[in-house]
Amino acid sequence: MNPSPTVSRRDFLASTSCFGAAVAFARLIPLPLLAEPLVQDSRIAAQPLVDKGFASVRKIGNGVYATVSDFSKGAQTISNGGIVIGRDGALLIEGFASPGGAAFQMDALRMVSQVPVQAALDTHYHFDHSMGNAFYGAQGIPLWAHANVTPRILESYVPLQAMDQASALAPYRKAVENAKNDTLRQRAQGDLNAVTAVYMVTKSSVLALPNRALDPAKLPQAIDLGGASVVLESYPGHSGTDVIARIPDQNIVFTGDLLFNAWYPVAFDPSATISGWRATLSKFAAFEKDTLFVPGHGQVCGQEGIALSRGVFDDLAEYAQKMYKAGVPVDEAVDRYTIPDKFKNFPVFSWNFTIGPAISKLYAEWGPQK
Ligand SMILES: [Zn+2]
Repeated sequence: MNPSPTVSRRDFLASTSCFGAAVAFARLIPLPLLAEPLVQDSRIAAQPLVDKGFASVRKIGNGVYATVSDFSKGAQTISNGGIVIGRDGALLIEGFASPGGAAFQMDALRMVSQVPVQAALDTHYHFDHSMGNAFYGAQGIPLWAHANVTPRILESYVPLQAMDQASALAPYRKAVENAKNDTLRQRAQGDLNAVTAVYMVTKSSVLALPNRALDPAKLPQAIDLGGASVVLESYPGHSGTDVIARIPDQNIVFTGDLLFNAWYPVAFDPSATISGWRATLSKFAAFEKDTLFVPGHGQVCGQEGIALSRGVFDDLAEYAQKMYKAGVPVDEAVDRYTIPDKFKNFPVFSWNFTIGPAISKLYAEWGPQK
């Protein structure tokens, strides 16, 4: 594709090489295989319906499909999503990171069913779940999301699109330059790579907004697709705009980013709440024993995935509390955290989008140190 005439060749080369850095960063986040007990689960198809590398779509229930992304192989979708099909209509879950990602999932639906799409759902406003929304707009598909998704997209991504790359990345470049040692420099470089990826995707996207706002006070709400019921529920934790899609008849839940399976949770959002998030996970832990969870990122999992995620939060909270009580300042506590062996293979989207804010938000919840 040729660069647009309004972008100079130099800008184009600079931005493509910058995107190269973001893609290199994505390679550090490979997708693990489906866990053995789930390979044996009769609800889950042995082979995916379609696999394009950047994402695959696999049957995980009666008329229920999970779209699982592999960011290391491409950035079309980045987040997971899914499809629920009833007699009269289908629900598509997530707007993904690009219209191409949303189109990919629509094509997968059309491989197995011709029912009209009743709605698409963004589980929350983050770029990797909403930058493909324009696809739904173009197809005339109603797009549903938590009532705060529209304002959060507008206040987060419109200003970012208006910024030039150098100013958007300046504070992160500065943090790399000012890092006190190699470990901190590596973490700062990780932050820079992550922000670069967010910037590049946002800059190249046409923002499109949900046209049906779900008032959280009016949830849960059931959607009848004809012989298939999906219940939308709102929980606190990741973004202040999180809605899950639950199929009670089959014990299947699309959690959005309230679950990062075998990842450190991305907790930077100003509306993220660690105590709220832990309470949400304890509610998920009380769902039926054979519940299948489709997380926002990582593989499809059962209750073991919820237990693992709670373990990560427990570890962060235990550590933060020790530091807090010992009078260690928050910035120092963030710098001094080490990833325990049992979580050493967990992707860290970048230190200051995951571990850093989790610790500082816990400090903030506990109030001023004595
Ligand atoms: Zn998110």
